[in-house]
Amino acid sequence: MLNKKPQNFDFKKLLKDNKYIITPTRLAVIETFCKNNRPIGAEFICKKLNGKINEATVYRTLSSFEKSGILRKVDLRKDSTYFELNNDHHHHIVCTKCGEIEDFKENIEIEKLLKKVVVDSKKFKSIEEHSLELFGLCRVCN
Ligand SMILES: [Zn+2]
Ligand SMILES: [Zn+2]
Repeated sequence: MLNKKPQNFDFKKLLKDNKYIITPTRLAVIETFCKNNRPIGAEFICKKLNGKINEATVYRTLSSFEKSGILRKVDLRKDSTYFELNNDHHHHIVCTKCGEIEDFKENIEIEKLLKKVVVDSKKFKSIEEHSLELFGLCRVCN
């Protein structure tokens, strides 16, 4: 977990803290996440970088960043995998028409509900993590 706002990230420190050697590719990928501050995929990153880094390298970098915990996967029900900075716990509402994404924070009701689900479960004793994505229509598309 990173506790800074993406805009204030020291990209190099973030890589060093995660035991990475700083390379132009790694810096460029991290920077794209910080600048956009929303879930993005490899295709978007390649486009933003004007093809300066080939797609296979971007994929490799994303998967490595996910393993080290810098990024987390976000399931947006799209064909390609989306990632975001693993900086704070939140959820997403996604427009199924235009792809607009809005974050929303966990609230006490959701927390209570999750606890109740575990208490009521016959087979599970604990929940280690969760994701919650909602799909609908944004105000423009509605
Ligand atoms: Zn929309
Ligand atoms: Zn949550």
